[in-house]
Amino acid sequence: MKPKQIEIGDFVGNFEITGNLGKGAMGSVYRARDKHLHRTVALKVLSSELFQNPEFVERFLREARSIAQLEHPNVVRLYEFGVHQGMHFMAMELLEGGSLGDQLKSGKVFDQHAALRLAIGAATGLGAAHAAGIIHRDIKPDNIMLNGSAQVKIVDLGIARRKKEDSSLTQAGAYLGTPDYVAPEQIQGHKDLNGQVDIYSLGITLYQMVTGKTPYGGGSLRACIVGHLMHPLPDPRDLRPELSQEFFDLLCKMTAKDRAERFADMDELVQAMKGLLESGNGPVPATPAPPPPVVHLGPISSHAKVPPVVAAPTREPEHSPEQLQHLESQLVRYIGPLAKILVKRNAAQIHDFGNLAERLADQISDPNHRQNFLKAVKPSISTKKPP
Ligand code: ATP
Ligand code: MG
Repeated sequence: MKPKQIEIGDFVGNFEITGNLGKGAMGSVYRARDKHLHRTVALKVLSSELFQNPEFVERFLREARSIAQLEHPNVVRLYEFGVHQGMHFMAMELLEGGSLGDQLKSGKVFDQHAALRLAIGAATGLGAAHAAGIIHRDIKPDNIMLNGSAQVKIVDLGIARRKKEDSSLTQAGAYLGTPDYVAPEQIQGHKDLNGQVDIYSLGITLYQMVTGKTPYGGGSLRACIVGHLMHPLPDPRDLRPELSQEFFDLLCKMTAKDRAERFADMDELVQAMKGLLESGNGPVPATPAPPPPVVHLGPISSHAKVPPVVAAPTREPEHSPEQLQHLESQLVRYIGPLAKILVKRNAAQIHDFGNLAERLADQISDPNHRQNFLKAVKPSISTKKPP
């Protein structure tokens, strides 16, 4: 049974849909009102294309179980999980403050003090997850949200995994996590991941909060991965000279390639961040933050010319949103949540739909799966827009 499209005014279980909050790789998130308790919630509904696939249902359930297990002020709260007319949904605490990702995308750059305060909230929430045996594995600004009182909340435990759990839900060869923030040992497919992957990703996030860009992103996927594996963290003071040496040292220790040199756990990290906030070597809160630097949305390379002072993307995708959505929903079956970012990145660079589909198919290791993917997107190829 294919569930009907959800519209404003519809009920999903006891929840009346009152608005749209956004769409992710697994489904859509709506603003909704609990008809009994009269509270407003964020209702995440598993996509109709994925709800018949047991693997995605399991992943959705796992996200709910992970959140349910964590009652912590810095982790989003789960109110209810249910199935309504075949649709799996979870009702969560509504986070009115949006995500750090939204703020960074709008060009906001944080001063050292503000960035550390937010990172302490995130690290504390993650520490609670680790204590419960859950590693997030996908920490990035989009997954650090704020409630109406600007309190930090970790969200999206969709690919979080219990430390001892096997990786049957992870396709062999496909690493999970987002390339811009992913820890070296995750890229290398280590089996014994621990909470230090989240420390690394939070370090990259903290770097982005104070500079407006990620240290290894912005170019090709390959360049990003090579950066994580081989290149030392660029000095953020090249972009923000007012950052302290101690802050840079902290970032380096968070993002050490060898986890033996990283902070051992979130407690140690939180202590170090608090120490930095309180010490004279911390930020200079009295100084107003300088105007945000240029937001780099185009490719970043060492020989890049002085970038223009604009925040608008320079590469407009030439594919329709429907085509991209179709590609993403097919690709996600084979490589998981990474599909979203790969479609977005490649679509910005490859304007021929056929070539784009081929490039994405290269990411699927199993040849039969690759063929199935290409077959499924072929109708879109034949209906692509003329150049
Ligand atoms: P991904 O699939 O990679 O996680 P995503 O984070 O965009 O992508 P979702 O987690 O499904 O996908 O979230 C979709 C949108 O809903 C996002 O814009 C997110 O900010 C918003 N959102 C998610 N959870 C909440 C919440 N509890 N309160 C308010 N908005 C939320
Ligand atoms: Mg998310």
